[in-house]
Amino acid sequence: MLITLKEIFKYAGDNVAIGAFNIHNLEFIKGVVQAAEETQRPAIMMINEAVLKYGGIEILGGAAIAAAKKASVDMAVMVDHGEDIDFLKKCIDFGLDIMFDGSHLPFEENIKLTKMMADYAHSHNRSIEGEIGQLGLSEDGDEETEQKITSVEEAVTFASKTDIDVLAISVGNVHGFYKGEAKINVPRIKEISSALEKMPIVMHGGSDIPSEIMRASIQAGIKKFNIATDLKHAYALTMYDLMHQDTMPIQPLQLFPVVADAVAAVAAEKIKIFSSEV
Ligand SMILES: [Zn+2]
Repeated sequence: MLITLKEIFKYAGDNVAIGAFNIHNLEFIKGVVQAAEETQRPAIMMINEAVLKYGGIEILGGAAIAAAKKASVDMAVMVDHGEDIDFLKKCIDFGLDIMFDGSHLPFEENIKLTKMMADYAHSHNRSIEGEIGQLGLSEDGDEETEQKITSVEEAVTFASKTDIDVLAISVGNVHGFYKGEAKINVPRIKEISSALEKMPIVMHGGSDIPSEIMRASIQAGIKKFNIATDLKHAYALTMYDLMHQDTMPIQPLQLFPVVADAVAAVAAEKIKIFSSEV
């Protein structure tokens, strides 16, 4: 069933986080839904703003919403890293929850725009995630940006002034693959989650993090983990293997279910880590 981003956190707890997975096409959608149904756990499908502009709000967004409505477990569907105000309003009108990313803006400007989007989302019964702090890599994981760890003060001020439902923080997490071991500031997660009390906090760049660090982060208060790269990697690797067989298959139905299964396997493995089942 389709529920809102805000509602899905009823399934999170002291020891349990919700998996949020970036989807790009039907195979990712099918893979993530399959993983949620197999594990009988809720999950979030996220669509990056650029991907949604390519796929279309009604087409790709509509497919994800339709799949969530049909799923045997509760699911939410949201735009990830939205920056285009007019486009995001159309997404909300259509029925998508959003993440508004003003983390690259000056702090006060981020507050102002995030609050405006929060008011718009809430007046349409949708939820919103905001972000402060800067991750070490750009959204697509290709470009290095300056890393800025979120302070407790910033988190508290931002949460109270913007009226958001969920907050993404920067605690050493990066998008894409990590160079060396992921260095996550677990004590800072604990400080921020204690200071924010009920507001769920999110870690982006959840791929390529060892499961024990994920578990420690969840115990410190992370309630949503964003996974993009690990699914894209599984998808590309599986497609590559299929394409490099002696006889290259050209029937889409010889390819699509196989890559969807590969996406599902990785998503299910993550959901189990988030649900403390491994
Ligand atoms: Zn992100």
